[in-house]
Amino acid sequence: MFKKKRLSVGVIGLGIIGSRVAAHLRAAGFAVSVWNRTPKSEPNFLGSPADVAQACEILQLFVADPKAVHEVLDAIGESLTSRHIVVCSSTVGPEATREIAKRVAERGARFLDAPFTGTKGAADQGKLVYYIGGDEETFAAAKPVLEATSKAIVRIGEVGHAALMKVLTNMLGAVTVQTLAEVVAITKASGIAPEVLATAIEHHGIRSGIIDLKLPKMMAGDYDTHFALKHMLKDVQFGLDLAGELKLDLPATKATAYAMREGMGSGWGELDFAAVLKRYE
Ligand code: NAP
Repeated sequence: MFKKKRLSVGVIGLGIIGSRVAAHLRAAGFAVSVWNRTPKSEPNFLGSPADVAQACEILQLFVADPKAVHEVLDAIGESLTSRHIVVCSSTVGPEATREIAKRVAERGARFLDAPFTGTKGAADQGKLVYYIGGDEETFAAAKPVLEATSKAIVRIGEVGHAALMKVLTNMLGAVTVQTLAEVVAITKASGIAPEVLATAIEHHGIRSGIIDLKLPKMMAGDYDTHFALKHMLKDVQFGLDLAGELKLDLPATKATAYAMREGMGSGWGELDFAAVLKRYE
């Protein structure tokens, strides 16, 4: 009797999201190996990214930024071969995504542009939403892995397009939360209870998932990190870089980046990005 071989998945980067994705993949029955720059006590924690590549066919990356992805690829080195699919779920922007895809292709491996939306809670529940850029065959091969940690998978286009869409949607999130902070500050300074603002928004067309998620936290002064301010600023900066290339002026995004940089300067970079409200506290 032959048992069907389990698909082997390497999760690299065990931060807020990667650690939760690895747990879901294990629960779904994949053969999971993991690595993190700072060692962690997790099942099948291997000694290096190269060890993970030797153990696994699919490598899903959840490290912070383009520099981290390049360092991981440096560390994998010649252990990356034609049997691999690199699934880049780090938010790195379209330009870095294309560079990373090129590096991966030079080793004969396949690449999927697969950033996601959904934060700590969604990762806990295996309900992320992936945006996908890449060819159909690579997508089909990686799909069972992505399905195990998501509630939806949205096909965006070619490599780089999903990364672009991820940046654009985060720009909307960043500007919304900055404006929300400003509105909360005026509400409080005017002597109106923030709960009244929450009710007013509940019945307004502006209500959104992100406001539902962040407003209660802001009202409670709870900045426990679901998505760090430093990462949101990284993504907003990708948007500004893109606008620069396209010769587009983005006043709202620029103002938001300015406020976020000030927040970073105040030492709030590791907090949730809702911490932009702290300037009014
Ligand atoms: P996180 O908790 O800050 O974790 C970042 C991970 O990157 C850690 O494992 C960290 O390792 C690793 N890392 C950083 N620099 C590295 C380097 N030079 N070499 C190797 N590893 C490095 O971040 P996260 O919230 O899980 O987010 C991960 C990615 O998903 C980011 O690109 C983020 O923008 C994106 N994302 C996050 C969310 C969210 O809600 N959290 C939502 C959508 C997209 P150490 O433990 O050693 O520091």
